[in-house]
Parts: sequence; structure tokens; C-alpha cells
Amino acid sequence: MWQTTIRGVCPQCATAKIFAGVYTLRPRCPSCNLDLAGRHGAHYGGPIALGYGVGGIAGLGTFALLASRFGFRTWVVWASVGAVVLAILLSFRQCKAWWTWWLYKAGELKGGRR
Ligand SMILES: [Zn+2]
Repeated sequence: MWQTTIRGVCPQCATAKIFAGVYTLRPRCPSCNLDLAGRHGAHYGGPIALGYGVGGIAGLGTFALLASRFGFRTWVVWASVGAVVLAILLSFRQCKAWWTWWLYKAGELKGGRR
């Protein structure tokens, strides 16, 4: 799981990268031919929901930290909003990779062989 999530490699063979671009997944693993796309729509929603979850936690954490230190100020709110956006941008790749691993474990992604 960590291999796929952190390094962005195929959940089946763990040798080939599953990303073709920054946020774009390959349709199939170039090494073991695992179907990474899955059924139509399998990839929608999940990573985005996860990303917003991570963003929300990061935003609340930043706000709690800064507000307890500097009090409730306008820039504290903006810094928290910035943390949310940053966290979503930084974690989206990991969310997508984790989601791919989860789909594989759930049996949604098939094809190829070990
Ligand atoms: Zn593979």
C-alpha cells in the first residue's frame, strides 16, 4: 500500500509508475498490464473526496495552531485557507495513488499477471 501511495507505483507488480503525467494515470500498467482505469467512473469522486478531507484537516489544524498562538486575526483565516489549497494540491497525487491501490484490493482492477 505505501509503495503505491508514496512512490506511485503499480499495486500489482510495484515496479512501474502508474502516473503518465502529474495527475494523469496510465490506462494500463506498462510492466504487468494491470488495468489501472477499471470500470468507467471507478476513479471519479473518491480521490477528490479524499483530497478535500486531507485539505479540511490541514486547514483546521493550521487554524487551531495559529489562532491559539496569535489569536483570531484576518491573516490567520487566510493562512488556513492557503493551507487547505496547498494540502489538496500536494496530496492529490497520493490520494489518487491510494485510491488506485484500494480499487485493486477491492478487485475492481483486473488484468495482467504478477
Ligand atoms: Zn504492474
